[in-house]
Amino acid sequence: MVIQPGKKLRQRMRPTERMRTRFGENGIIVKVKAPKKRPAESRQRGSGQKKTRTHAQVQAYGKRPKTAAERKVRVAEILGLLAKMYPDAVCALHHSNPWELLVATILSAQCTDKRVNEVTPGLFAKYPTPQDFAAVAPEVLAQDIRSTGFFNNKAKSIVGAAKKVVSEFGGQVPRTMEELLTIPGAARKTANVVLGTAYNIATGVVVDTHVQRISARLDFTKETDPVKIEQDLIKIIPQDRWIVFAHRIILHGRALCVARNPKCAECAINPLCYAKDKTA
Ligand code: SF4
Repeated sequence: MVIQPGKKLRQRMRPTERMRTRFGENGIIVKVKAPKKRPAESRQRGSGQKKTRTHAQVQAYGKRPKTAAERKVRVAEILGLLAKMYPDAVCALHHSNPWELLVATILSAQCTDKRVNEVTPGLFAKYPTPQDFAAVAPEVLAQDIRSTGFFNNKAKSIVGAAKKVVSEFGGQVPRTMEELLTIPGAARKTANVVLGTAYNIATGVVVDTHVQRISARLDFTKETDPVKIEQDLIKIIPQDRWIVFAHRIILHGRALCVARNPKCAECAINPLCYAKDKTA
């Protein structure tokens, strides 16, 4: 049908629910099927729509290890890559003895290492020994460590730890996991940091937020509880790498394998990684 210029479309020509009229070439009115409206929720990303895997993910999935031997080779390759990427990884918390490291680790809960390193020089100048910390009131110490957050609880833990170290361990931070776990404010992660970094004793693997996230991305564990994650890591990582593994993973978590939008295009582990949230 040809439309006459100036003539209005009649009512019956209006689009029906599913059909829509359009002017085609030469003014010819054509009826076309109206595009099906998708409900708003299905237009949003991640609302049940299946995510398409990236090319890199598909390739990596293809190489996913199937046997225990293949898994072992993959872990070894990843450890090797981490060693190349972060050859000089060390603990980022500044300290000059085990006691200072214990205090810095307690302060680092829910706080950046950078902030802790800003606070500790003044703190250790004011209270040079565990005896000095044991003698201070928690309310007073809380003001000295205020900028690290959760300062009241941290002050109580540090004063409690100082009292325990002075009264039961002769002013020396103990060297065993069992003894360290009796110290206020020292859970397994803190104990592993002190044993590994201050005493070079590999009793376990430090599991902080970076180790937790990246171990899952690398398929080293399916657990979410730090203690169970540590048990999984202990099984697949050689004991002589337990300490440095955590240092390297923590650096990796800060540099590339960040929580949101990891920088996978720059990551050497990319061909071996099949994390669901890979970005390249
Ligand atoms: S940065 Fe990307 S490729 Fe590298 S380990 Fe993390 S998720 Fe995997």
